[in-house]
Amino acid sequence: MSSEVDINKVVRQHKELEEFFTSGFSVKGKSKADKAAVDLEKIAQEINKCCQCSLGSTRTNGVPGEGNPHARLVFVGEAPGADEDAQGRPFVGRAGQLLDKIIAGMGLGRGDVFICNVLKCRPPGNRDPKPEEIEKCMPFLQKQLDIIRPEIIVALGAHAARTLLGNDLPIGQLRGRFFDYHTSSGFGPIKLMPTYHPSYLLRNYSDDNRRVVWEDMKKVMAELGMELPKPKS
Ligand code: URA
Repeated sequence: MSSEVDINKVVRQHKELEEFFTSGFSVKGKSKADKAAVDLEKIAQEINKCCQCSLGSTRTNGVPGEGNPHARLVFVGEAPGADEDAQGRPFVGRAGQLLDKIIAGMGLGRGDVFICNVLKCRPPGNRDPKPEEIEKCMPFLQKQLDIIRPEIIVALGAHAARTLLGNDLPIGQLRGRFFDYHTSSGFGPIKLMPTYHPSYLLRNYSDDNRRVVWEDMKKVMAELGMELPKPKS
């Protein structure tokens, strides 16, 4: 058997490998063919350069959001906190750990859903978002939702729910039922479920509050046609 190296074969294999890792083959969420991933990345870059409000000069990192560009389910929170600002990733602090548990309870992982916020930069001291900040930042969220076009949006807390629904009702009155949401380009209706924010749950960690959030998520799962977890015996 010849031990000579077939140089043409080696070059061909190298080219095939290179093409696999850099072009139109389906490496999930990353291939050139995945327009949604590319478009979301462009928005992330815009967010990281944005200085349309004063938060642009106080942030450490913009927090565009992350997850599956083709998610059927998107979670929208209020604004990044200190941990998120430091890492440039949404929901990575204590509230994020609770959100991870909620998502895991639904039988999903972070990579199955998309997680983002109304504001993409941290308000100093975690104060409430100002109306002018929301106004400047909303086009980013609207574009993200228009790219992903999920079947369901879960609005975490009063700020996200009220901003997306354009009303001023208390979260206690909004949570637990589906509303219709249309993207800025008119796509929809997407079903929107408001529920309590994980930070609120952490501050008010009662059986009742946990139960209602879980009831809300069960409605979401039923709407997505997901099997509900069997009750533990
Ligand atoms: N609270 C939010 O609303 N968003 C985060 O990303 C973290 C905490």
